Amino acid sequence: MTGSGNGNGSGPVLDAAWAIDWLRRSAAVVAENRVALIELDRAIGDGDHGENLDRGFTAIVAKLDQETPATPGAAFKMAAMTLKSKVGGAAGPLYGTAFLRAGTAVGDAAALDAPMLVAALTAARDGVVARGKAASGEKTMIDAWTPAVDAAAAEAAADSAPAVVLAAAADAAEAGAIATDPLIARKGRASYLGERAIGHRDPGAASSALILRAAADAAAASAGAVAGGAAPAGTGS
Ligand code: ADP
Ligand code: MG
Repeated sequence: MTGSGNGNGSGPVLDAAWAIDWLRRSAAVVAENRVALIELDRAIGDGDHGENLDRGFTAIVAKLDQETPATPGAAFKMAAMTLKSKVGGAAGPLYGTAFLRAGTAVGDAAALDAPMLVAALTAARDGVVARGKAASGEKTMIDAWTPAVDAAAAEAAADSAPAVVLAAAADAAEAGAIATDPLIARKGRASYLGERAIGHRDPGAASSALILRAAADAAAASAGAVAGGAAPAGTGS
């Protein structure tokens, strides 16, 4: 392991427990937003996105109830395999690739510092691009992931702690998802709609923002546990 991670001793540790908490929080937030994601996908797709993701993350939780991954990379790879096998459509292979690439990027590290976190997020995004060939502005999940990666990289370059890096990524992903509303889709099912996709949020960008927020929330909870409860104030919505 490199010795030069974030030096803030009181920060959260992005270890296996964090990765597991991230996956469990993702499952919870996907379940909570299942209908909302179905409705987004019904407007510009086939209405299965919430169903698909809920099935996949429910299966991930079932696996976590049986086995405890020892590292973040192992947790990501388990998530990848499960999503690839349980989630159909476009999103299963795309999210599966994202988690697989993230798992490969972090190797068997026991915990991620901010630069490793950025490497993982970048690898995840690059995996989605390699698989789906979407550019920015084509109304896909990339429009959440790329701003998230850029914001995370900027925070890490400013020597911010991993929890801050993840919060910035989640903020940027949410803004990116909202910014898909006026776009015409160029990839996926929504691309068949042409201008009729305008005014609707991309479901995959919306779910990506939820999942990245879950990562940030897991880090904040871990920070609270370490530092004695510095929970971030809600920012509305
Ligand atoms: P399907 O479109 O097969 O029904 P889902 O509904 O589960 O699959 O997922 C749809 C989402 O997948 C879209 O909202 C979009 O974010 C994402 N998506 C589709 N195609 C691509 C692609 N080529 N690149 C990146 N993301 C894509
Ligand atoms: Mg769909």
